[in-house]
Amino acid sequence: MIVGVHPIAGFDKLLHYKVPARLEDAVAVGSLVRIPIGRRFTLGIVGVVGAPSDFPIDRLKNLTDLVYDFPALPADLLELAKWMAVYYAAPLDGIIETMLPGAVRRAAGLKQEKLIALGTALDDEALAKLEKRAPQQAKLYRFITQQFKPVAKNLVLKRLGVGAGSANALIKQGALREMSQQVKRVAYADDFSEGELVAALPHLLNAEQQAAFDALKVEIAKDEFGVTLLQGVTGSGKTEVYLRAIHEALADGGGVVFLVPEVALTPQTVARLRSRLESIAPDHACVVWHSHLSEGERVDGWHELATGQARIVVGARSAIFAPVQNLRLIVVDEEHEPAYKQDETPRYHGRDVAVMRAKLNGAHCLLGSATPSLESYANAQAGRYKHLHMKQRIDDRELPFIDVVDMRIEIMRSRGLTTLSQKLVHGMQDRFEKKEQTILFLNRRGYSSSMMCRSCGHVEECPHCSISMTYHRTDESLRCHMCGHERGAPVRCPKCEAPDIRWRGTGTQRVEEAVTRVLPRARIERMDTDTMSKKNRFRQVLSEFRAGKIDVLVGTQMIAKGLDFPNVTLVGLVDADMSMHMPDFRATERTFQLLVQVAGRSGRGDRAGVVIVQTFTPQADAIQFSRHADFDGFAEGELKIRKDFQYPPYRHLIHHSFRGPNPEKLLFFAEQWARLVEKEFPDQLEVRGPAPSPIEKVKDHYRFQVWYFTHGVSRVIGKLNQKRREFAWPDDVIQVMDVDPVNL
Ligand code: ADP
Ligand code: ZN
Repeated sequence: MIVGVHPIAGFDKLLHYKVPARLEDAVAVGSLVRIPIGRRFTLGIVGVVGAPSDFPIDRLKNLTDLVYDFPALPADLLELAKWMAVYYAAPLDGIIETMLPGAVRRAAGLKQEKLIALGTALDDEALAKLEKRAPQQAKLYRFITQQFKPVAKNLVLKRLGVGAGSANALIKQGALREMSQQVKRVAYADDFSEGELVAALPHLLNAEQQAAFDALKVEIAKDEFGVTLLQGVTGSGKTEVYLRAIHEALADGGGVVFLVPEVALTPQTVARLRSRLESIAPDHACVVWHSHLSEGERVDGWHELATGQARIVVGARSAIFAPVQNLRLIVVDEEHEPAYKQDETPRYHGRDVAVMRAKLNGAHCLLGSATPSLESYANAQAGRYKHLHMKQRIDDRELPFIDVVDMRIEIMRSRGLTTLSQKLVHGMQDRFEKKEQTILFLNRRGYSSSMMCRSCGHVEECPHCSISMTYHRTDESLRCHMCGHERGAPVRCPKCEAPDIRWRGTGTQRVEEAVTRVLPRARIERMDTDTMSKKNRFRQVLSEFRAGKIDVLVGTQMIAKGLDFPNVTLVGLVDADMSMHMPDFRATERTFQLLVQVAGRSGRGDRAGVVIVQTFTPQADAIQFSRHADFDGFAEGELKIRKDFQYPPYRHLIHHSFRGPNPEKLLFFAEQWARLVEKEFPDQLEVRGPAPSPIEKVKDHYRFQVWYFTHGVSRVIGKLNQKRREFAWPDDVIQVMDVDPVNL
């Protein structure tokens, strides 16, 4: 038997091997195999069984080994990988590498583990006695009665703080059973130690939830590819609808992928979801997939899915590649979330890949959000996706009040630049006295690259691209990062003539200092990418905040979503303008999303929340529409602008960046290339640039970028890739292509 193998990492082509007789029965398309290449050994995925008829079979080597006796990359994932390789212009070997976690490739972590489960149940009397005589044993026993399946003995003991003696006594008595098994997943082994082990009970659906669920049931029953956009305001109970839909797919014998943004994967959500999902499908473990898993845990979960023992996975972006069998439903929560886009090769978008995977499987894809991406929204408007709405919050709770503070007036009042408005300061002091908490948000990036007039709020935009011009201090110029349009930086505001146009914004550190000045006795914590480089630190701060040990949390968007803090009754958005004037055509959309999400999160407990937004442009759409969480109103206006400038969703964008030590040389080749592309694609691509990147120079490497606009990526990407391979790039020019970029 001959097979064609895609090597993982290193070789981007199909290589042929003979299969030794002992493995012939087991090797199939998707098998993970060990292969010799030259003098080395590497891993590969079997892509085809059989060889072209005129193939020189005699010279073939044998493949060495089979890692798992089932296909490690199921057929649908292999097909998905091939599609991604073309669409995202990324090498196939790297994509397969992304799909198969390192631990899986190393076949790490399958181990023998002692499990315990309920034996002969104790009657009430016996339990009462046990309660008195041996409270430790009773505690363990009660815990085990609440589990849906055998659990890992050592872990549970450690977790409950119960000694081995107690367990053994119960086992001897027959109340518990002990078994030894090669486990593929160790129950409760993850580091979510603070997650409560409570069973979350289903809610009775309200009318809107029921209507949405009924519509979804019909879609899922069709057993064919389709996409639904569930647009439901924050707090409308979308999760409950997802869970019902998942139940439906599982009851039908199908498998499910449930994607949530990484930040939303808190111990609390995981514990709640897992408990609910495992009660829905008691015979099937729910695998949780996130970046904090140990190697063993990852292999365990992966193994359970690949062998069909588990049928459901919950996880962040990369969980879209989990080997779920018989896929019937994919749920993408917070589908607008930029975190679904991977910022390194392969630069895929988890949501778009989810839609494609559903398509390859004839499955249904459910996208949910309070503020859908305009891409998904447009697809729904055009009838390509089914569009469902949920407009009421559970219990008709009101959305928190959004209080817009005009910073232009604030500056006049304080006769100078202030970081925190009076209103925000008073609000924080008030909360501090009442022992309630405050969150202050700032823009993701701690600098402002645009120039904004502090008197009238004017920002210079590129006349061709409708994005903010970026200020370059080196030559006192304003430049557009889309098309390269350039002009001298004005000294006075072009609109109102005021002299103070060179405002550069505020960083988290400045805000922290300002808060310390007005609340000297408060405990303040700062949370941004600088202070949070360690993963555990992030969790630690959040858990301290939740426990009320911090009064004011200052942070970037990274703390905005998926978080529930009932004691937070004030949220301040310190610099709404900065996020509105990023040199990014999605800046307004992002700001709107941020405001609505933030408002939806504050005051979730009994107390009502207040959101204070500081801005120099209170009249901006993103701010005005967010005050009533009016997504449709916002989308209507924003889509008009997108249409005028033919931005996504009206066309696709491809970003091509060029990096190298020599700026003249770099620009020369980028120019040559851009003009070549223009010539090769006279009708299908619009080329803009080269222009300098927003960050012109990183570690002595200069950066330029070229943008392509197209109506169909698949129509142009193959040829574009080929031209790119053929082009004579100098060695010191690195170029990277990003299809449908999100974080510009
Ligand atoms: P969304 O994701 O739409 O913002 P959630 O799914 O987080 O909203 O639900 C908001 C809250 O309402 C949660 O605490 C959830 O447990 C609760 N909830 C959801 N559905 C119901 C229901 N039918 N009855 C009562 N409470 C519900
Ligand atoms: Zn421009």
